[in-house]
Amino acid sequence: MRLKTFLPSDVAEKNVLMRVDFNVPQGKDGEVLDLNRLQVHLQSINDLLKAGANVALISHLGRPKGKINPKYTLKPVAEELSRLINLDVVFVDDCIGDRVANIYSGSSVPSLVLLENVRFYGEEEANDSSFAKKLAAPFDVFVMDAFSAAHRAHASTSAITNFIPSFAGPSLENEINILSQVRDNPKQPFVLILGGAKVSDKIGVIEKMLEKVQKIIIGGGMAFTFLKVEGYEIGKSLCDFEKLDFARQMLSDAKRLGVEILLPRDVIVAPEISDESPFEVTDIELGIAQDAMGVDIGPKTAELFIAALDNAKTVLWNGPMGVFEIEQFAQGSKEIAKKLVEITQDGALTVIGGGDSAAAINKFGLEKDVSHVSTGGGASLEFFEGKDLPGISPFQL
Ligand code: AMP
Repeated sequence: MRLKTFLPSDVAEKNVLMRVDFNVPQGKDGEVLDLNRLQVHLQSINDLLKAGANVALISHLGRPKGKINPKYTLKPVAEELSRLINLDVVFVDDCIGDRVANIYSGSSVPSLVLLENVRFYGEEEANDSSFAKKLAAPFDVFVMDAFSAAHRAHASTSAITNFIPSFAGPSLENEINILSQVRDNPKQPFVLILGGAKVSDKIGVIEKMLEKVQKIIIGGGMAFTFLKVEGYEIGKSLCDFEKLDFARQMLSDAKRLGVEILLPRDVIVAPEISDESPFEVTDIELGIAQDAMGVDIGPKTAELFIAALDNAKTVLWNGPMGVFEIEQFAQGSKEIAKKLVEITQDGALTVIGGGDSAAAINKFGLEKDVSHVSTGGGASLEFFEGKDLPGISPFQL
């Protein structure tokens, strides 16, 4: 998939509004707990500044639901960005109207501005056209750089492109280049690793990718829906009873297509999900007791999954193998992450879907050692489902 991107001449001497995703994790006093989301856009900001643009950044933060709420102000993010980029970032406490227009009417225009949270206006999530026109008004050019917000049809990701010349930003382009390689042109053997809690989120991806992959590894909470279909006792493990038919059908489709499905053979079981909970390894053949739940893949399974990744040339990983937030149930996800690092060094393309799989690989400190960690959980799922993303289709060539 190719996107319409800007040349330096498209943005030189122009007032450029760039949509970023600064929806950072915050501490209780609003402090920025993690700089990752800022770092994602540094290259794009620098590219625009180097080309001679005056850059204003626009983002959402949290869910203020259309009301001004100081808890969700982007002001601390402006301060953090100033430090990170080593440049004065002017914060404007609105994203439309005079306060924004005024910065461009004076004699000296600041080179880098961060506007206040766009979700302080309800019109943002409603993709309201007249609001989008107001957002665009002080600017000559719009750049969409926030892949993680591209699956949402909002005023600052979608409707705005109707009012000023618009381009895809470098970070968005980078995401699409890598994710397209996996989706449209994967080198074989291609292995899909799925985990996490919900089967329903991943159905579209499974349906789309089943004909492209050689193997699907299923771990995490979602594995128990499949194990249930196979007739095993799963105790009080997660199970999506409404998706049992889907799981049954998928297992049979995979067989017909010659796709190998790997399910856990042993699991870590615990009476509850907590730091203090006792736990033990249980063989799936023996069944999980009624009062126990599977919280991670077991050591035998980790070995089996790792062996299945041995000669993979493309891997897409979406969803952790267990409750990785708890140290004692993070081992399975860690083993998979380490194997991905190893095959990346051997030349495989290893891509981590966003959301919790990204959180897991970050937790293990291995995010730099795989080919790519997507910035978008929901967006990457929809991309792999083959859906048109409203924040991307305006730029598709
Ligand atoms: P998802 O958003 O569907 O990818 O789910 C991610 C969540 O799944 C993480 O918060 C994990 O803690 C959770 N998870 C993974 N494995 C299990 C499991 N066996 N039981 C319950 N939750 C799980």
